Amino acid sequence: MTYQELIGRIIALQDEGLELFNAGKSVLGKNILVAHVGDYSGVQILIQGGIHAREYISSLLMIEQARNLFLNDLVHNGGIYFIFLTNPDGAEIVLDGIDSVNCDITRQYLTLANAGSTDFSQYKANINLVDLNTNFNADWGGGSQNVFCPATEDFVGFYPESEREVQSLINFTLKTKPLLTISYHSKGNVIYYGFENQTAEDIERDQAIGESLSELTGYPLIFTENSTGGYKDWCINSLKIPAYTIEVGDNSLQHPIGEENLPEIYERNKDVPLLALEKAKEYAKSIDFTSSLMQNMKYENNSISNAKSHTARINRFNKGRNSYWCGDSKR
Ligand SMILES: [Zn+2]
Repeated sequence: MTYQELIGRIIALQDEGLELFNAGKSVLGKNILVAHVGDYSGVQILIQGGIHAREYISSLLMIEQARNLFLNDLVHNGGIYFIFLTNPDGAEIVLDGIDSVNCDITRQYLTLANAGSTDFSQYKANINLVDLNTNFNADWGGGSQNVFCPATEDFVGFYPESEREVQSLINFTLKTKPLLTISYHSKGNVIYYGFENQTAEDIERDQAIGESLSELTGYPLIFTENSTGGYKDWCINSLKIPAYTIEVGDNSLQHPIGEENLPEIYERNKDVPLLALEKAKEYAKSIDFTSSLMQNMKYENNSISNAKSHTARINRFNKGRNSYWCGDSKR
């Protein structure tokens, strides 16, 4: 699979009627594409994937989830945002190789960090050699695997939220106010929940929802330890909402997990978005959904009133996407 093919699959959702817009931009200026399924009123949840460059299997999974929910009209009284590929610059390097990088110095810098190898199939970081899922401001730099120098994985960045993809995801989350988030990663067939300093009450809440997701997928539920700076961690720590990391694909598989494994992964995860939305709705009933939590999130606008203009923009962008995506690159 090439990068263009992956993006083409996301874009093709629009031809089937899904609304696509941008969650923000990558360091290199690529659009971070989002689809929304269901209603804009009521409880929203957010699912994101592809934050680690080599984990595009999560994007392929989410494309199928969104398509299934939309075409079968399964989401009502609430909605689901799908951010398919949070790290498009990194995914392009994995899928198309280091020659896809249109800058001699950047290519040399990345190759140096990759121990001189031109095999970037195991790459996880963004174009700045930052591991985006360690760059969020949630006990930033406190993880057991964190490194503090640019690297193909585990570099936390020079300061929290330094990366444009992370800023984009945070801004989009604050704007859309999901009551639950799921981050799809690979691999391991497990679900992680919880974060340090959570209250006992919140841990109990997150465990109960997590157990439902575990029962549905067959993936064991594990409390997160020694991991900080992730999107899930930030959602729990800053927004106090239930948030999960789901690692798809058996541990015996090699990165990057190929599309041939998608049917099995999809089968186990097909109904995760709907179940998560139902659980978020139950949670909403137990809190003062319209006031306290929303104020905590400190954001003025509770709706995506400009969704249509986003769509118009992306339509324009699609027309010129060949020149946009390829730019004046060497390919
Ligand atoms: Zn990952």
